[in-house]
Amino acid sequence: MIQAQKGTKDILPTESYIWQDMEYKAKKIFSLANFQEIRTPIFEATELFARGVGDSTDIVNKEMYTFEKSERSLTLRPENTAGVVRAFIEHGFSRLPQPVKLWYKGPMFRYERPQAGRQRQFHQVGVEMFGSAEPSADAEVINLAVKYLNELGLNDLEIEINSLGCPECRKKYRDAIKDVLKPYLKDLCEDCNFRYEKNPLRILDCKVDSCKAIFEKDEIQKVILGDFICDDCKEHFDKVQEYLNVLNIPFKINKLLVRGLDYYNRTVFEIKSNNLGSQNAVCGGGRYDSLVETLGGPTTPAVGWAMGMERLFSLISKSEPNRLDVFVVSENTSEAMKIVEELRHNNFSAEFDYANRKFKKQLDKAAKSAKYALILMDDEIKSNTVTLKNLDTSEQINVPRSSYLEKII
Ligand code: ATP
Ligand code: MG
Repeated sequence: MIQAQKGTKDILPTESYIWQDMEYKAKKIFSLANFQEIRTPIFEATELFARGVGDSTDIVNKEMYTFEKSERSLTLRPENTAGVVRAFIEHGFSRLPQPVKLWYKGPMFRYERPQAGRQRQFHQVGVEMFGSAEPSADAEVINLAVKYLNELGLNDLEIEINSLGCPECRKKYRDAIKDVLKPYLKDLCEDCNFRYEKNPLRILDCKVDSCKAIFEKDEIQKVILGDFICDDCKEHFDKVQEYLNVLNIPFKINKLLVRGLDYYNRTVFEIKSNNLGSQNAVCGGGRYDSLVETLGGPTTPAVGWAMGMERLFSLISKSEPNRLDVFVVSENTSEAMKIVEELRHNNFSAEFDYANRKFKKQLDKAAKSAKYALILMDDEIKSNTVTLKNLDTSEQINVPRSSYLEKII
């Protein structure tokens, strides 16, 4: 027996209607803010991710599904910002009126250890806004994340923000962090030692308890909490906060928030839930003003985020699936087919008994699956009527063929 691969999951009809709802609500909320959907391929040149996500990240170092085809190295997308940026450049979107506002949804692939909230094929929904360096753009995308979560009935999530500054202020911060952590290198985990050389700020993102304890030390806290960002970056960050206040979006500043990807500058943010256990981040994002240029396009500031849809799914309270509107009960297949056509044409979901079983069997089936049984036996056919049975109340009426549609609610 061949089974689904470790870290992948079938989305069955018992759950797919909730996924459809998540997707429908994404389209609704993002369209209201004039964001348009973009669909990019699921595989791209490996180099796109090596350059776009950064070769000091866990994603590129450990988690990519990479394969060769016709001597080309290809990779299943581990995230979608790099692909969207590639498309932005390839289609000359910098010549369009700015900002360009896009959203996407779809599967992503990362070779990680599967566990609750962590799969190898998972889904993200995300937005990207190109062409504005203004703090109002940062606030706009954070606002969209919040509005989408609210639309899904999620109102009590924690929003954390931080500013990583620009490359210049970040360099100062990086040097200070390296200096103060140097004496502790032997106590930090292996990953942190690797990051120390490649991408020291990411050390602060470490989830290992013994590393977290070291960050609590006074001299290290002093560096972390010290205001290292330059005046321009500080003004930008202050404005983002001011706009979030205008929008009544509560947030916390978390100076340890650095995010896993290499390309962020200035604002970074995460949205977390206390109801998710250890994989508690639902949404992650930030500003990436240099990525378009890094990937060969014109200098274009940008800001965006991605949400994990499996984690959203586990948080939302599940509504009942829609029941079938009408089950047609008839021993005359041709008549049943005709009336099912008419019902569907009038936007009622409708089905009949393909096997043309006896009346009683069909009525049982109707009672299990539908809101109404529409009975079309010999009597009804002769008198050109139908009998409509409301299966919730058991109320039954006989009405002319010409007016039965009005009786279905
Ligand atoms: P984490 O710290 O949980 O590994 P990340 O920083 O790798 O997150 P991002 O790359 O920012 O995650 O992706 C955005 C969101 O996508 C995450 O907040 C999470 O909800 C979801 N996500 C990431 N990786 C997975 C995965 N393997 N399985 C399910 N969801 C995921
Ligand atoms: Mg990860």
